[in-house]
Amino acid sequence: MTDLTTATTTDTIVVAIDGPAGSGKSSVSKQVARRLGYGYLDTGAAYRALAWHALKHGIDTSDSSSVLDVAGDFDVDISLDPDRYRVRVGGVDVTDAIREPRVAEAVSGVARVPAVRQAVTAMFRAMVAASDRPGVVVEGRDITTVVAPDAPARILLTAHPDVRAARRSAETTGQDAAAVAAALHRRDASDSAVVDFLTAAPGVAVVDSTDLDFDQTVSAVLDVIRTAVPAHSGANDGR
Ligand code: C5P
Repeated sequence: MTDLTTATTTDTIVVAIDGPAGSGKSSVSKQVARRLGYGYLDTGAAYRALAWHALKHGIDTSDSSSVLDVAGDFDVDISLDPDRYRVRVGGVDVTDAIREPRVAEAVSGVARVPAVRQAVTAMFRAMVAASDRPGVVVEGRDITTVVAPDAPARILLTAHPDVRAARRSAETTGQDAAAVAAALHRRDASDSAVVDFLTAAPGVAVVDSTDLDFDQTVSAVLDVIRTAVPAHSGANDGR
């Protein structure tokens, strides 16, 4: 399989950011993309959108062959603009719907099907190649290892599990904190059976956000990128 850097026809720079739920990955990646004038690709949104699509068709997401069937008819559109983030499936805006707990519960089942991962990975590479921005911040679970192992900047964003659970529960209104924490740990456990996103692969920089606030985490990530891609990471970052 071609890697992302050779698959690009343009010279799009990839910043690869992996991490578990509640690490601050999505909001930090989006802000880093804004500061650099880069695109932002939320790969988890594609898996969530597929889970939403499977649920809409009444599919049992723990059954791989049913998931594969429904994946054949999956028309997803994810914007790469960090200021106009939205996700559509078959023309339906699912930006909010894919955050519902029922989708979060179903997504690991969809994401563990190898043929689904291959197809979705190819889609991510094509989206990056088609971007008209100088670079794209791509965030997920397997970006530093599978989707873009040759990216010039690769980062694992971590945080202590209790801190992640507390952040996720602050984001999720109307749900019991203990239930949110239990759902997050359950999802981590099933996801980590597919991809190891809790340990940094060789050459991947670790940013631990346990004791950092949002701005400090963004700065720490930008520092890694500046070191890795000095020529392209200073233009719009406000320093
Ligand atoms: O990042 P987010 O929590 O939105 O991801 C949703 C789910 O998508 C994860 O729990 C995981 O099952 C799957 N995922 C993945 N590989 C990625 C991104 C997300 O398997 N690169």
